[in-house]
Amino acid sequence: MHLKQRYRMSDLFKNIVSHCKEYGFVFQSSEIYDGLGAVYDYGPMGTLLKNNIREYWWKSMVQLHDNIHGIDSAIFMHPTTWKASGHLDAFMDPLIDNKDSKKRYRADVLIEDYIEKINKKVDKEVSKAAKRFGDDFVEEKFKSEHPRVSGYLAQIAEIRAELARCLTEGDLPALGKLIADLDIADPASGSRNWTEVRQFNLMFSTQLGSVAGKEDKLYLRPETAQGIFVNFLNVANTTRSKVPFGIAQTGKAFRNEIIARQFIFRMKEFEQMEMQYFVRPGEELDYYKYWKEFRMKWHRALGTPEDKLRFHDHDNLAHYANAAVDIEYDFPFGFKELEGIHSRTDFDLKKHQEFSGKKLQYFDTDLNENYTPYVVETSIGLDRMFLSILSQAYQEDEVPDASGKASSRLVLKIPPALAPIKCAVLPLVKNKEAITDKAQAIFNDLRFSFDCQYDEKDTIGRRYRRQDAIGTPYCITVDFESLEDGEVTLRERDSLEQVRIPISEVEAVIRENTSMSNLLKTLQ
Ligand code: ATP
Repeated sequence: MHLKQRYRMSDLFKNIVSHCKEYGFVFQSSEIYDGLGAVYDYGPMGTLLKNNIREYWWKSMVQLHDNIHGIDSAIFMHPTTWKASGHLDAFMDPLIDNKDSKKRYRADVLIEDYIEKINKKVDKEVSKAAKRFGDDFVEEKFKSEHPRVSGYLAQIAEIRAELARCLTEGDLPALGKLIADLDIADPASGSRNWTEVRQFNLMFSTQLGSVAGKEDKLYLRPETAQGIFVNFLNVANTTRSKVPFGIAQTGKAFRNEIIARQFIFRMKEFEQMEMQYFVRPGEELDYYKYWKEFRMKWHRALGTPEDKLRFHDHDNLAHYANAAVDIEYDFPFGFKELEGIHSRTDFDLKKHQEFSGKKLQYFDTDLNENYTPYVVETSIGLDRMFLSILSQAYQEDEVPDASGKASSRLVLKIPPALAPIKCAVLPLVKNKEAITDKAQAIFNDLRFSFDCQYDEKDTIGRRYRRQDAIGTPYCITVDFESLEDGEVTLRERDSLEQVRIPISEVEAVIRENTSMSNLLKTLQ
């Protein structure tokens, strides 16, 4: 990517952040007290959008799969849960401090950023050569034969392999050495005066003080998945499920993230949407494939361009996983993880069985045998999904103004089924009672079906812009003629097409074009 393009991307990110604040999508938490780092509140528009994304996920997973059941487990769990899951001993980030700037970084992120810089050099060489060779250009051939580029790629592979080894083996001194060998400097100060790398647990703890003088340590869950594992038998028995079956839930998770300056991409308090699918041992990789494809289809059904989403296989598999992939989205700051799909073997159920002393097995009547099911999980952050949708939707384009001249507008092209407000009812003029009465009657009717707004302030052009800025797919204008012919003007957000339709048809047209069911049907 060219430097100029990169600047534009960072401007885009800044614009999205300020748009979120201006139009009531996302606010800094406790803003009147100067805010709390990496914690955010959702405003009126943001809450509606978030609810719609959650509904899309929930319905596609629970409603469309008759063997997936939804639960809502508590944030607090018995402290032994976290011993069994491995979070107490191993849910760590490798951190490094710069002695001069006193800033703290994740060691692996510093190295990843270094790799990204080399990647950028490769991209630059590739686009230069593509221009030079025109139609004859074969990217793969160029990458393997061009001495400088193949050297960059070999260097990336070498760094990745060492990083993966350090992380898998927990080799912190080697991680520090890698940072020194690569001559990585503090991005803030340019200093190379680093401390050694240390592990830092990401879980927040609090006290349960039910008996005076005796306090037990509790943790805020760092993922929703463990609430599913510990309820495996409860759900299997009460739903009389046969393997394979799944358990899904959405809910808050908490992580004491140190590097937290990417808006809602990385927060200390965030929401996850997770599903654990319990299968016969040996069949897990077939289901892994199914879920990988289904989840990508779910993203693409929103109209996200092909080149904005990609799979990224994990370089370093956790010791209990036998396959793991991320779905990455091309955020304004580059491709980053949006969702993880993991084949976790029987690790979690076996651990909970060991630590609780309770048998967590399944009797398979078809095979006539007992076993611990294997698990394939899909895990997506609701807030990251929200950010990816806004990044995709935020656009500036040109539209004709009232006099027919081109003027720029800011529009959120949010998929209609997810848009916070489905339609706005606008009386063309506000000083004619008959028109405002008619418009209000239409609005009062539509609000039973959709989230709608009624707006009579300002010129019609300004009102259209306000609706564009919050992503409303349809505006309905009521004018003098409406009183005579019972028709209104329906304006579509993206095409700007305006058509006259009978008032009696408005509800059906909006329903058809903004419905969650129609979006879900595309997943079949
Ligand atoms: P990362 O490598 O970015 O820290 P992770 O691999 O630790 O993410 P998982 O533990 O697999 O993430 O969590 C599943 C999903 O939860 C992620 O794909 C992401 O969408 C979301 N998520 C994880 N941590 C955060 C966070 N701090 N803020 C917002 N969303 C998060």
